[in-house]
Amino acid sequence: MTRTDRRSFVLRVAATASALGLAHTRARADVDESDPVAVALGYRQDTRKVDPAKYPGHDLAQHCGNCKQFQGKASDRSGGCTLFGGKAVATAGWCSAWNKKA
Ligand code: SF4
Repeated sequence: MTRTDRRSFVLRVAATASALGLAHTRARADVDESDPVAVALGYRQDTRKVDPAKYPGHDLAQHCGNCKQFQGKASDRSGGCTLFGGKAVATAGWCSAWNKKA
């Protein structure tokens, strides 16, 4: 492999890795807390930041990762939620529609 071939190969690998990373990012667009549906449901990306005065039924053990609506794996950083269409919610997140996964 010549020096030019090696350089070309490295650039192609980098471009492919970048494109895959971009595709991954797009597929994992997190729900923004200012999204109107998120606001209506009191969604927070971190269950520890839920306002206890506003949601007295909330418990720190409740998070998206153990919610019935969560479509990801508990080991994932984020995953789909049936209430947010194609967007991902944080596994550590929470909203007022939380329902314990069986
Ligand atoms: Fe998270 Fe469940 Fe609310 Fe979806 S419904 S945002 S998974 S707590």
